[in-house]
Amino acid sequence: MKKILYVMCIVLLSQLSIAWDGHDLLTYHLVKSALPELMNKYVHVTEYQYNESRAYNLMKMVVGDWCEDLDGWVATWQILRTYSCEPDMGMDEGLNISILQFLPSVDSHVVRHAKIRIFNLDFFQGDESFYYFVRMSKIAFSRDDKYWGYRFLARALHYIEDLSQPYHNKIDTDDKVLQVLDANYRHFLRRCHYAYDLFLAYLFNINDRKLLDAIENTPPIPCKDEKELVKKVREFSISKFEIVHDEIKRLFEDILWKRKVKMEDFQIADSKGQLEVLKEVTYQVISNFAGHTKYFLRKFMKEVRELN
Ligand SMILES: [Zn+2]
Repeated sequence: MKKILYVMCIVLLSQLSIAWDGHDLLTYHLVKSALPELMNKYVHVTEYQYNESRAYNLMKMVVGDWCEDLDGWVATWQILRTYSCEPDMGMDEGLNISILQFLPSVDSHVVRHAKIRIFNLDFFQGDESFYYFVRMSKIAFSRDDKYWGYRFLARALHYIEDLSQPYHNKIDTDDKVLQVLDANYRHFLRRCHYAYDLFLAYLFNINDRKLLDAIENTPPIPCKDEKELVKKVREFSISKFEIVHDEIKRLFEDILWKRKVKMEDFQIADSKGQLEVLKEVTYQVISNFAGHTKYFLRKFMKEVRELN
């Protein structure tokens, strides 16, 4: 029985994709409300000078700066916003970091950006990616290298944002475990994941006021440390997986068997008033993420003496 369970988990794990679309905007609205003191703070761009224990795809990783503002100075919010997208640009691709990479569709990018729960088992390293860059950020600030302090922190934010996406924590409900043996069904699940990634981008695109409120107006929610932050973000996200997944299927089932959901599909559904449940649950997921992450950010900034 244990063996069968393991095989099922392994098959389920091969059904993954990328991330929320819109890390930059999510980070911007989060930082603006969590750390208003930083909105006028500039730091000087510095060279990358770190010996890291973590492997990267060096063909794809760029360590030079690409958001400099004036004569080598750059706004701290700009660093956080810009580089919160960086981990999706290839630095985690093409590496050999997990024995689970023998599975179809499981590559090093998936391993580093997800933490998948099947029954009561958790797989992959999304949480460790977050912890790693929090540690690197602390090291940089302790050397008074503020630019890299913020840049590593931006990467850390990327991974905690990923962990707030229900499809980065679940592939399907556990009762469907047998169905994923079917390749067509696996394509279907992958498209469900893409659709929900795109939904966040859709809400940003239409400048959805309630989404921005959920990010900006949720007050900081205390959490003891980074571990508790990850736990609170993931548990809430997992608790909303079923309703998100049911809604995505209810709205787009026919499309999802054939192709990816597009922006226009959301527009049409929205014009018919069909997105209300999906919107509501998304505000809850994002608000939970924002509240806990704001608290962490303020505490972290005080620790590294960027805030009094
Ligand atoms: Zn990601």
